[in-house]
Amino acid sequence: MSEVDILFFGAHPDDVELSAGGTAAKMVRDGLRVGIVDLTRGEMGTRGTPAIRKREAQSAARALGCSFREQLDFGDGMLRTGREQELEIIDVLRRTRPQLVFAPYPDDRHPDHTRTGRIVTEASFYAGLRQLRTKLAAHRPQTVIYFLQNYMFTPSFVVDVTAAWKTKMRAIAAFKSQFHDPKSKEPQTFISDPGFLQMIEARGKHFGALISRPYGEAFVTKQPPRIDDPLAAYAGREV
Ligand SMILES: [Zn+2]
Repeated sequence: MSEVDILFFGAHPDDVELSAGGTAAKMVRDGLRVGIVDLTRGEMGTRGTPAIRKREAQSAARALGCSFREQLDFGDGMLRTGREQELEIIDVLRRTRPQLVFAPYPDDRHPDHTRTGRIVTEASFYAGLRQLRTKLAAHRPQTVIYFLQNYMFTPSFVVDVTAAWKTKMRAIAAFKSQFHDPKSKEPQTFISDPGFLQMIEARGKHFGALISRPYGEAFVTKQPPRIDDPLAAYAGREV
């Protein structure tokens, strides 16, 4: 792990790519340093093994241009969120010193996603407490931005990821064991059905349509973003 501008947290390897991979790739393209931390190794997945998924996750992060991808071991399908795990995340935040943190919206169908959103939000605050003494200096990110997974919420903003869409889909394709592969002999799952990637494509187009662009990714924040130029924010659109 190294210092980054932006840090993405997901519960499982591939969560970040599916919901926010275009934004990660776009920010790398804009010259920012981006890292990914998965809180679990995805060992409960029906297809692939943790070793295969780890290799795939590393190659996906390379496709996005990330500085690093780190996998923690909080337990897939039973994600632990005690003080010990909170201190691990605080350590990651103090080590990597991101200005912005992305995490799952802390209310989702999969409890691991909900728990990840919650523990990352709380650790992001606690990491800034000087009196909480660890080996590393206190650091508090500007805010935590939530990406959407199963449940949909009204977006606070949509990022235009048109120029990064192909990179996002290449990163997703790196998770070969998880998604549609006609040659695979492993059991079909919800996400290995060809319809799943069509849904990701459709979601990108839908969020894009909300901002009159070919592709978008939607985010929710508890603190509204500051807009310096309301005119430019709505350029090319009509009521
Ligand atoms: Zn997940």
